[in-house]
Amino acid sequence: MKFRVIKEDKTTNARLGVLNLNGKKIKTPVLWLGCMIKKKPRPWEYFDVNTIMVNAYEIVEKKIMINLIHEFLNTDGLVMMDSGGFQLMKKNIHITPAKVLEIYKQAEPDIGVVLDFPFNPSDLDSRIKRWKKTLKNTRFMLNNSHDIVLMPVVHGYTLEEIKRACDELKDITNPKVVGVGSLVPIVRYMKTSNISELNGMNTIKFMIDAISIIRKEFPDAFLHVFGVGSVATMHLMFSLGVDSVDSMSWRMKAAYGAIQLPGVGDRFISPKNGRKQLKEDHLLEKCECPICINKSLSERKNALDNSKHSTFYNRAIHNAFIFKEEEKMFHKALIKNNIIKFIEKRLRRTKYYKLVMDFITPEQPSQHRHRTF
Ligand SMILES: [Zn+2]
Repeated sequence: MKFRVIKEDKTTNARLGVLNLNGKKIKTPVLWLGCMIKKKPRPWEYFDVNTIMVNAYEIVEKKIMINLIHEFLNTDGLVMMDSGGFQLMKKNIHITPAKVLEIYKQAEPDIGVVLDFPFNPSDLDSRIKRWKKTLKNTRFMLNNSHDIVLMPVVHGYTLEEIKRACDELKDITNPKVVGVGSLVPIVRYMKTSNISELNGMNTIKFMIDAISIIRKEFPDAFLHVFGVGSVATMHLMFSLGVDSVDSMSWRMKAAYGAIQLPGVGDRFISPKNGRKQLKEDHLLEKCECPICINKSLSERKNALDNSKHSTFYNRAIHNAFIFKEEEKMFHKALIKNNIIKFIEKRLRRTKYYKLVMDFITPEQPSQHRHRTF
């Protein structure tokens, strides 16, 4: 595996890079489309998708027998496999790091994630124990990985914990790839006052600061953030210098009836429980996804309509396409030195807007943007 940064943005921490892995080459920052191993639709059968994220927990829980994951998925792109630590924790299923390694050796993903023990937001006291177990697994898996590229994962609910986790990881290895976990539950459980108290502040600000620390601790590593929930969060992560994210939201939002469009949140073709109905026809008209292309506006709406049966696949493919297009738009903005304007446009309507702009706007003093801890 070889990863190199080819351009650093002058106004934000965003960076453009190239990842060479197993004879394949991709441009970063990159989005891995999170997929269920056996479920359809498979977006890469409709348009070009070179990065797919799957989860070993499906193999464990559903006892799916797979040999080579690329053959199983019918892709020649890169495949990352998560260990399923988070899902298995929620289901109280026990699995050993040796078993996860065995799955990786058989399935041969391009990157396998170390079996971690994500924090449980409803049991905050257990987190030190969980982190120690994650470290132990990391050591074991790295020592026994042979030629599998493994991604260790950093966890922490306070900035001190994050910093300590980075130091402890460095005692074990000098990782080429690093994942960031446990930030997702924070976003999801944002109203959980215990966590806000722990972080001592706004949780979005905590996320921004936590990522800044990890980015700084591992400046050359390929940095991945697990499970981003929206295109806006993906852009936020990329602007913080994150090289890689994954998301299954294209599929989950489609199942809920929502479609994605550049620069706006979830939209519904037909009314749904007071959620925002599509008004931005001009954006839908421009879509070049395999579902929309060569269709009139009304045909597009019909194909994506949440009130109609069997439109889920259409919405899922459309949404996956928009997520990947937005990744390309970020690259374009980065190449043209236009990230600030791009981020401003994309995050304008989100709850992060002010905090993010405070963080990345060039007028801020530099120690504010590249703070040290
Ligand atoms: Zn479309």
